[in-house]
Amino acid sequence: MKLKNHLLYFLLLIGAVVHAQKSNPVADVTRLVTQPEVEAHLTFLASDEMRGRDTGSPEFEIAANYVAAQYKIFGLKPAPGQHTYFQSVPLQDSHPATGGEFSLGSDVFKFKDQFILFEGVNMSWKGEVVFAGYGSPEELEKANVKGKLVVALAGTKDAGGNAMAIFTAAGGKYNDAVKAGAAGLVEIFASPQIPWPALVNYFAGNVTTKVKTGGDNPAPHLWLKDGEFESLKKIKDGALNGALSVEGVKKIDVPSRNVIGMIEGTDPKLKGEYLVVSAHLDHVGVQKNAQPGKDSIFNGARDNAIGVVGLISTAKYLAQYPPKRSVLFIALTGEEKGLLGSKYYSENPVVPLNKTVFNFNCDGAGYNDVTMATIIGMERTTAEADLAKACQAFGLKAAVDPVPEQNLFERSDNYNFAVKGVPAITFAPGTKAFDAELMKYYHQPADEVGSLDFEYLIKYFRAYVYANVLLANNPAAPTWKAGDKFEAESKKLYGK
Ligand SMILES: [Zn+2]
Repeated sequence: MKLKNHLLYFLLLIGAVVHAQKSNPVADVTRLVTQPEVEAHLTFLASDEMRGRDTGSPEFEIAANYVAAQYKIFGLKPAPGQHTYFQSVPLQDSHPATGGEFSLGSDVFKFKDQFILFEGVNMSWKGEVVFAGYGSPEELEKANVKGKLVVALAGTKDAGGNAMAIFTAAGGKYNDAVKAGAAGLVEIFASPQIPWPALVNYFAGNVTTKVKTGGDNPAPHLWLKDGEFESLKKIKDGALNGALSVEGVKKIDVPSRNVIGMIEGTDPKLKGEYLVVSAHLDHVGVQKNAQPGKDSIFNGARDNAIGVVGLISTAKYLAQYPPKRSVLFIALTGEEKGLLGSKYYSENPVVPLNKTVFNFNCDGAGYNDVTMATIIGMERTTAEADLAKACQAFGLKAAVDPVPEQNLFERSDNYNFAVKGVPAITFAPGTKAFDAELMKYYHQPADEVGSLDFEYLIKYFRAYVYANVLLANNPAAPTWKAGDKFEAESKKLYGK
């Protein structure tokens, strides 16, 4: 009897001690996330030897192995059903056409002089060409486009040839045309805002990287320079004969990887829910055609070695203090090529997206205000209070996006989770404006570790870690606020 009582007392005492340890995460974060350690990670990832961690480069692979090694040291598991920390991401480089010709009626258009090509393979095509207004689904149906090349005005009926409308409508319009059975799409480009040579320079000379899709769609997608051409008038009255030749297109496979590790939640119920902590590991590599003797390495200390260190620090902490909810850590590839690693992940998630309750991404262009952290999308989800609390605990303000016109929300990996309905936001270093101080480093060789303010960054990292601690332990999973653009998609995803 007595012995039992003693035992009970002892157990209570132990319980109290364990409880006391758990209840002070701010002190524990401070103890575990140290300046020498974050400095060591940053120095390695952003060293010249890593040559800017370009997607597809050997140095990106080294960086991926480095992150996997940290996961291993901390004791993270591979994601459910996976045997390694690596998710293969099949990417592909498209080298642009080097030449081609498009003839329509009696006119002949030359590649670059009058047209550029977005999609398509080397080809020699002959057939009927029809006009379909702005290429809306209704106009495509009316024009009876099956097997024919479609000529349409760039932009939309409502916005006309406004440059923004042209760019946003192009992809969907091409997909609609292909779906309707068209042999391809030619858009007549007439925007006074964008001079033709600039367009050619940008689109016809660049290698583009994309997620490799199963069947390569050979249907061409062209932009044709508007002008006083007989054929462009005549085609509005009826179909014309046409021919298209394209040469020089090269597609080269670029295998890459996302690095994914997991910490299982401790709560029997909440462990079925996942918080995704993400950061892109890639940067933009080395400048081609740099002047001899000039620094040509884009080290990407701010963009985004900082984000990766935020992720690594969170993994270290949560491995020692496992939270109620499960947490997935994803170091992403291909962000700088167009958010490709997150795009691939969102289409091929290792944990179902409807079990993924939140994505807290860490990324940024740099910083110009060391009194705060900037949280892109902060005001849009119910995570707001936890985020403010975490920043405040380390002496930082939690600030909202100062430059909505820059579309930062759409320019990092959180976006690919958001479009699927998952509440997803990005933690970024203090940004009060997109000013000269920021641009001095943004995608510049000057973005090096030597120019970082560690007194600020240590607060920044600790605030990010602590925010994840709060999010992973909060009994209520964050949601989009009522009326948000992604609310409907979210209801569809979670079925509520
Ligand atoms: Zn970035």
